[in-house]
Amino acid sequence: MNLALLFESDFTAPDRALLTGRRRVHLETVLRAAEGDRIPVGQVNGKMGHGEIIRLTETEAELAVTLNRHPPAPLPLSLVMAMPRPKMFRRVLQTATALGVKDLWLLNAWKVEKSFWQTPWLEQPALTENMVLGLEQAMDTVMPEVHIRKLFKPFVEDELPRLIGDRTALVAHPGTSTPCPTHLNAPTVLCIGPEGGFIPYEVEKLEQAGCQAVHLGQRILRVETAVPVLVSRLFDGCV
Ligand code: SAM
Repeated sequence: MNLALLFESDFTAPDRALLTGRRRVHLETVLRAAEGDRIPVGQVNGKMGHGEIIRLTETEAELAVTLNRHPPAPLPLSLVMAMPRPKMFRRVLQTATALGVKDLWLLNAWKVEKSFWQTPWLEQPALTENMVLGLEQAMDTVMPEVHIRKLFKPFVEDELPRLIGDRTALVAHPGTSTPCPTHLNAPTVLCIGPEGGFIPYEVEKLEQAGCQAVHLGQRILRVETAVPVLVSRLFDGCV
């Protein structure tokens, strides 16, 4: 937790907030903070600044809050990701959030197991919890939007072309002939496949929707590795 993210419910006055639970424990055990110390804070979807600890008890920390800075710029990216297995999904969601992804689309694909869609990690409180961890890690405040699309074909045929608009669109697919561009730094839609990869029909449909298939070299990376590699290749701002 490099920044304590404050929700509306944490505020007791416009410049006072209470930290309880995980965040208070983190203050004490990891940051070893004491009364009088200042810690970085940010208001969900708002500004960042600092919180001075004016009271620290066994159950809560009271902060005098000053919010005077804007959060870092978001990535100009819509990330379309075949739904990963639950354990990996949690990590990828935190990582994508920490990297500055604000628009995440979770998509079905032939090699996505049906059971993946049943995971409790897709319920809103769990999504929020993991995005909070990503934002607190990266020192950001702006919560990503997560869109769930359990049908591949209608999404790719009807929604994806509109989502792409006049942006660059890529599908990361091992074994294609075009290397993934570097330093693109432009509004982009990026599709990433499931653990078993997109099948040829799906790559064809994504290409018809306007995506160019690109590769990252001979090594096949796990989704959780491919996401940061792709993002840092495409956007200088995240490194
Ligand atoms: N056997 C699968 C295949 O060949 O497509 C491997 C899939 S990989 C574990 C999961 C996803 O990460 C891929 O669908 C792709 O989007 C991305 N990926 C991983 N390594 C890649 C590479 N070398 N080039 C392009 N994309 C890659």
